[in-house]
Amino acid sequence: MSTTSAPAHWRRMRERYRLLGSKCGTCDTTFFPTTKVCSKCRRKGKILPIEFSGKGRVFSYTVIYAAPKMFEQYTPAIVALVQLDEGPKVLSQIVDCELNEVKIGMEVEACFRKLFEQDRSGIISYGFKFRPLDNSWTKYYDIKKEQKR
Ligand code: ZN
Repeated sequence: MSTTSAPAHWRRMRERYRLLGSKCGTCDTTFFPTTKVCSKCRRKGKILPIEFSGKGRVFSYTVIYAAPKMFEQYTPAIVALVQLDEGPKVLSQIVDCELNEVKIGMEVEACFRKLFEQDRSGIISYGFKFRPLDNSWTKYYDIKKEQKR
């Protein structure tokens, strides 16, 4: 491991774990991952660090059946574009959710999970994924299914 990559890795790790981003103090636009320059205000923007609540909704999603080797154990997997309550969209895996239960608009929250394990080194990477916020929507769909019978 090189001496320069470790601190960078830990910085990113902390960012992933705490869901840190930035906010422009001039126009209130939020950014994830963090940014140094506001894309709207450019030099007039005043970038401040913020921590996101981790709550959001599924904006769009897809189911992945084939993945690179280190992600194979997770397939089939739901990968979604989650729109955080504060605005930015984050691409992430949805866990604790059946493939046929994911819905656009579903409320989700960030949770801390294993991302992947490297074969030889045994290094395990962690980061955030999203899970359904509650089960109320599954009950709703069960009722709908019952009504169709
Ligand atoms: Zn701005």
